Amino acid sequence: MLEGTKEPLFAAYNMGQVDLLKKYLSDDNKYKIVQCAPAVRVALAEEFGMEFGKLTPGKMASALKKLNFDRVYDTNFAADLTIMEEGSELIKRVTEGKNLPMFTSCCPAWVKFAETEYPEILNHLSSCKSPQQMAGTIFKTYGAEIDNIDPSTILSVAVMPCTCKQFECDREEINSSGYKDVDIVITTRELAYLIKDMGIDFINIDDEEFDKPLGEYSGAGTIFGSTGGVMEAALRTGYELITKKSIPNIDLKFVRGGQGLRTATVEVGDLNLNIAIVSGLKNVIPVIESIKEGKCDFHFIEVMTCPEGCVSGGGQPKLLIEEHRDVAYKKRKESIYDHDSNLKIRKSHENPAIKKLYDEFLKEPLGHKSHHLLHTNYVSRKEI
Ligand code: SF4
Repeated sequence: MLEGTKEPLFAAYNMGQVDLLKKYLSDDNKYKIVQCAPAVRVALAEEFGMEFGKLTPGKMASALKKLNFDRVYDTNFAADLTIMEEGSELIKRVTEGKNLPMFTSCCPAWVKFAETEYPEILNHLSSCKSPQQMAGTIFKTYGAEIDNIDPSTILSVAVMPCTCKQFECDREEINSSGYKDVDIVITTRELAYLIKDMGIDFINIDDEEFDKPLGEYSGAGTIFGSTGGVMEAALRTGYELITKKSIPNIDLKFVRGGQGLRTATVEVGDLNLNIAIVSGLKNVIPVIESIKEGKCDFHFIEVMTCPEGCVSGGGQPKLLIEEHRDVAYKKRKESIYDHDSNLKIRKSHENPAIKKLYDEFLKEPLGHKSHHLLHTNYVSRKEI
């Protein structure tokens, strides 16, 4: 523990996972790959006394390398991949007029809620795995190939703002790489604990870059961490894939914002796309009821369980003083959008590493390989 840092709140840690990870970090027989979700880099610094929303991707990558990971990759890369698959799935469903509206599926708490309370609408969920799970699958297939590594030796670790992601990686059907796609999930708080526990001076550490190619990302990938981010990323790509024209304004501010249900109609070529963004599960219930009554005319709906999306996830630094919450969420969101604005590439389909992945390995979105590796299915968990 570094001097001047707070003692960890042990009750807030899943010490089973953290201890397991610590054991593996010193195991040279394991090829250790880590990914970090977009919301982690705008909150981790708070655990070290820095201001709310401080953006520290370089320090985070550097600390992960010091923790002995062999590859420091990024969930943002897989967020770009999700957009390629989910955008193509939406276009297919709209063209065929089938299973509309389509809901996003990257929030595991939302998926579990649908499976438990409303299994009758599961065919409306996108079949895309979440970015965490897509990343894990790609690490143990394409990633193993490019590094010439036996995939059975890979330990795939995810750092998430979310307390539900461990449940997701333990789902039985999530193993299409031939192995468990993601082996261990730790939260932002648990990463901070590990960094302190290993004596790494996070505040003064020099920035390092994420490893290539599976750590390269666009601005669209990074905004996944905020409510409305998946929708905005999907519209940036969907517009250009459908119209074959450049999107007139890349900052789609009308999908950002804080209300639990936001709606809009977006002109995409000849199509008027009706969209909705939901944060907080209570706000999705009226939408689901309208589907059941046959009265829903949305095409695409983003659902996130946490009030501001993943920036406000349960695994983020604890905001022990109530009045800090709003300002922290606001600053974390601002950082996410600043990060996006400052990146040269801001559309998922323009990420060169994504293009290379399709050229060399997956071939095409929704193709045979993509379908096998990147898509999943859902089960009713309703108790009868
Ligand atoms: Fe997890 Fe909340 Fe993000 Fe959903 S919105 S993935 S529950 S952090």
